Amino acid sequence: MTKAFIYDLTPDQLAETLNALEQPAFRTKQLIQGLYNKLYESFDSFDAIPKALRASLDAQFEITPLTLHSRVFSKNKDTEKVLFQTHDGHLIETVLMRFERRNTLCISTQVGCPMGCVFCATGQQGFARNLSMAEILGQFIHFQRELRQNNEALRNIVFMGMGEPFLNYDNVSKSLDALSDPERLGIGARHITVSTVGVIPRIAQFAKDHPQVNLAISLHAAEDGLRTQLLPANKQYPLDKLIKACHDYIKTTNRKITFEYALIDQINDTPEHAYTFAKLIKGMLSIVNLITLNPSKAYPYPGSSHARVQAFRDILVSHGIRVTVRLRRGIEINAGCGQLAGSIKS
Ligand code: SF4
Repeated sequence: MTKAFIYDLTPDQLAETLNALEQPAFRTKQLIQGLYNKLYESFDSFDAIPKALRASLDAQFEITPLTLHSRVFSKNKDTEKVLFQTHDGHLIETVLMRFERRNTLCISTQVGCPMGCVFCATGQQGFARNLSMAEILGQFIHFQRELRQNNEALRNIVFMGMGEPFLNYDNVSKSLDALSDPERLGIGARHITVSTVGVIPRIAQFAKDHPQVNLAISLHAAEDGLRTQLLPANKQYPLDKLIKACHDYIKTTNRKITFEYALIDQINDTPEHAYTFAKLIKGMLSIVNLITLNPSKAYPYPGSSHARVQAFRDILVSHGIRVTVRLRRGIEINAGCGQLAGSIKS
């Protein structure tokens, strides 16, 4: 019989498991400490727990859901991309960005992605399946273990890797609980960002379930025709409904929304595009992240020039919109939902 992965269990389920093994209640805390604070890789290491119980747990569960397949570093070593292999042979990728003293991890939530965004290598691969909670957390745990060896730690988490997080909502939501729980992985909710192309029904639910976690919307175009060309999901979730969902989100959470906009030369970066964008989000509690698209085999159009980025930015700023321009750096050149399948460049 295949063993289950223990990181797929919530604290309540861990307690039920231990209860079924006729263990006292305090063992749940010991198990959680070993899994989430000590990050033990083997049940042998759980020295607070009796040997017989360790053996019972080992007979039922695996700890590590992912195996390291390969890793690649950017030239200046500030960005590392790891390919992990899942138990059923799929490859997923996770990216560590180590700059400005903030170790940020970009996590995948699906194997492939069904959204089909035209500029995204993941989207062009198609979709295989959702990642489990154990597989989502496993990406974090791998890097946290490594960083600890140098007395470092992960500070920020972005759900911007392979996949659309809101199409795997339940596992993403349980993972957010584990990441932000001070008794488990202890990353402050405000240091976690979930990025979506705009799966509207989940935005309201996310506002209710995780009001302190940051929300980013991969916008990339501010009118429906162009946005549907770039992000086919826009057909199902058009801009008027998306923007209404964003206003509702802000009303519920009083938190700002980040709009990601990858500038593509002559495609979505003209002054008219900037004016349309400014009109769409004017007055909204938000910040815009501008990046330049990294051309890929799937979508060989170049990112915008520095001058065009500045002109676009200036128009937004002149409408009172807060804007940051992100550097083309390591995976940052592909920042925004899911464009991680290309190789790292620096
Ligand atoms: S950009 Fe995000 S939502 Fe779009 S295809 Fe890529 S991974 Fe999926």
